[in-house]
Order: sequence, then structure tokens, then C-alpha cells
Amino acid sequence: MAENILVVGGGPAGLHSAVTLADIGANVSLVERDSFLGGNPKKFKYKFLFPDMQPADDVIGELIKRAEKNDGVKIYYSSNVSNFKENEKKFDVTIKSPDASETKTFDSVIVATGFEHFDPARDAKYSYQLFDDVIDIKDLERMMGENNFVRPSNGQPPKNVAFILCVGSRDRHVGNQYCSRVCCTVSVKQAIELRERFPDCDAYIFYMDIRTYGFFEDLYWKAMEEHDVQIVKGRIAEITSGPNNTVICKGEDTLLRGPFEIPFDMVVLASGMEGGPQSSEMVDKLGLELNEHGFLKPQNVTLAPFKSNRKGIFLAGACTGPKAISDSIVEGGAAAMDAYIYAVKNK
Ligand SMILES: Cc1cc2nc3c(=O)[nH]c(=O)nc-3n(C[C@H](O)[C@H](O)[C@H](O)COP(=O)(O)OP(=O)(O)OC[C@H]3O[C@@H](n4cnc5c(N)ncnc54)[C@H](O)[C@@H]3O)c2cc1C
Ligand code: SF4
Repeated sequence: MAENILVVGGGPAGLHSAVTLADIGANVSLVERDSFLGGNPKKFKYKFLFPDMQPADDVIGELIKRAEKNDGVKIYYSSNVSNFKENEKKFDVTIKSPDASETKTFDSVIVATGFEHFDPARDAKYSYQLFDDVIDIKDLERMMGENNFVRPSNGQPPKNVAFILCVGSRDRHVGNQYCSRVCCTVSVKQAIELRERFPDCDAYIFYMDIRTYGFFEDLYWKAMEEHDVQIVKGRIAEITSGPNNTVICKGEDTLLRGPFEIPFDMVVLASGMEGGPQSSEMVDKLGLELNEHGFLKPQNVTLAPFKSNRKGIFLAGACTGPKAISDSIVEGGAAAMDAYIYAVKNK
């Protein structure tokens, strides 16, 4: 009989886990809390993906299509795991859906519950909910995705936009000491996209350090050399209201060692990634552990990065820490192998 494997979370990581497992013969139940698959890229309507500006709809759409048309994957939409009990190396799990509850026994489990966006309203200096024209990178993704890039305050196209990096990351004051890894690259990508589509709009990026790691560094140079994006090493201390319906970024240029106050039509905050309440939910329901940063903790980050602290339960994607889609997909495949091996060995 085929192995029964549960995948919790239908984002890029969970989708790839589910399809990989089904392709090698497992029966997969994929439980997604939302009424749609595709995770955060779908939810926030990402438009183009770094590194190579592929349309997000093509990439995420392909991942969804592979799962939806695979007979080995049963998808539970708008559903969650309500009861979870270990039973002689297997797991008795109740899946609660809008119209029904179903209890099944699984040989192994993959958790791919992803991340939440940091809420910039938690740090008052960014005035996120105070001024309509202060938005964050997920808001901008959605605006670009909906072809609706205008100032929220007046519906007019902005003439200049500031990106502020490390919002809610690398900041002990808000409790997040870690780097969110993708927000530098997302911001540089968004600045390029903005300059390509709206050449009359100037783009500034204020950074502590630019961490467009690995090959993503190409985008950093492209932004400056081909798209005239102004990249300024400066810490923002405060965002206030300015004349003519502008917002003023006050800060210090840490290279020139001088204060600045620049009015902008719009400010985009590069808010980072957090483990979110779903990670705590997996701790409560499945007995997993969190690391010191609030993400799910692998058994050993180097030797067993996809194993959780519980035998038979595996982890994939951004639930264990900030990462790009390609890394999340790779992890989805690797966790699928671990989960399959466990299931076969314990049959
Ligand atoms: C603004 C922004 C732009 C980005 N742009 C890019 C880009 O251009 N290129 C790139 O490579 N990366 C990009 N990223 C990173 C990318 O979003 C992540 O790498 C990717 O979404 C991680 O996939 P995942 O499946 O691990 O998690 P998620 O995308 O978070 O998906 C997790 C899924 O699990 C579901 N879920 C959560 N809890 C439960 C539960 N209890 N029960 C059932 N289901 C649950 C969620 O609803 C969701 O569908 C960007 C990130 C941000 C913040
Ligand atoms: S990726 Fe860049 S913006 Fe994001 S936390 Fe790291 S240094 Fe800051």
C-alpha cells in the first residue's frame, strides 16, 4: 500500500513537497488554511520575481497546476489540522474543513507553514498607519500586481519614492535581531520595476548594508547603472509630514556623516519576515519547537535541516527562517525525501 503523507501549507515549499511525494507514489493530503494555494506570493499578488523578473503568476501558477492536476495529491482548502496524535510511529490527524472533519492516519508529516510579514506599525518611527503614503514592500507588490501604482493619499502617480531597508529586521528594539535575507533584493527589484514602468518617478534606497547576496548582487548594480536608482547609506530616524502633501524622511547619511531631511511622495518600508502565529500553532498542535527568533527549529541546522525535533515530522521553506522561493522549493523536495524515507522505514 502507498505511503500516506500529510503536508501542512500550500505555499511554494509545501506545493513542491506534495508533488514530489505524489510523483514517487505516495498518497498526499495537502492542508491549506486559505481558500487558494500559492502562499504569500499569491496572497500578496507578487508581480515579478527576483532574480530574473519572471512573472510570479507563471512560476506560482505552474507550482499550483502541478499539485492540482496530480491524482496523488488531495487538497484540503480553507482547512486546518485540528487534532494531532502520535500512534506507534504514525500520526492520527483530524483535518477540519468548512463542511466536514476527516480523521486519517499518516506515515509522516511535512510542515511548510511559511512566514508572516513584519507589521511596521509596531515601530512608531515609521509612521506606517499615520500617513497613507507610507506603505511596505508587500503593499507595493500588491499595487504593482494590480497595476495600481498611485499615491494612496490622492490617487496620483508619485514623482519620487524612498525605500527604507531593515524595517523590523536587524533591530533588537523590535525583538528581531536576524536579517530577513530577501528584503534588500526585493527592494532593489521593486525600484528597478518602478523605474522601468514609471520613468518619471525617482527612486531612492536608504540602507544600513546592502545584502543582495550571491548572484542577486547583479540586480544591485543594474539598479544603479541602468536605472539610476539612488542608493544612500543612511539610517532613518523619523518619518514626518512635509509641505504639499509629502512625507519627510529624516536621518543621517552615515558615509558623509551628516543629517538629511528629504521630502518624498511615497515611502516604501522593506518589512522583514517573521515566523508568525502559525509557527506557534505548530508548536502547540504538533509539539514542535521554536528557535530563538520565532521560526520552527530543525533538529540540527547543518546535519538535519529538514528534520524537526519530533521523529516523523519534517520542515520545509520559510517556516524555518527567511529565504527565497528557489530555496523554499529546494527544501520542499529535500523534506519530501526525508518524509518518504521515514514512511517506508516505519511501515
Ligand atoms: C514582499 C516580498 C517579496 C518577495 N519576492 C520574492 C521574489 O521576487 N523572489 C523570491 O525568490 N522570493 C521572494 N520572496 C520570498 C518568498 O515570499 C518566500 O520565499 C516564499 O513565499 C516561501 O514559501 P513557503 O511555502 O515556505 O511559505 P509561504 O509562502 O508563507 O506559504 C506558506 C503557506 O502555508 C499556509 N499555512 C500557514 N499556516 C497554516 C496552517 N496552520 N494550516 C494550513 N496552512 C497553513 C499559508 O496560508 C501559506 O499558503 C518575497 C518575500 C517578500 C516578503
Ligand atoms: S535583507 Fe537587507 S533589508 Fe532585509 S534585513 Fe537583511 S540587510 Fe536588512
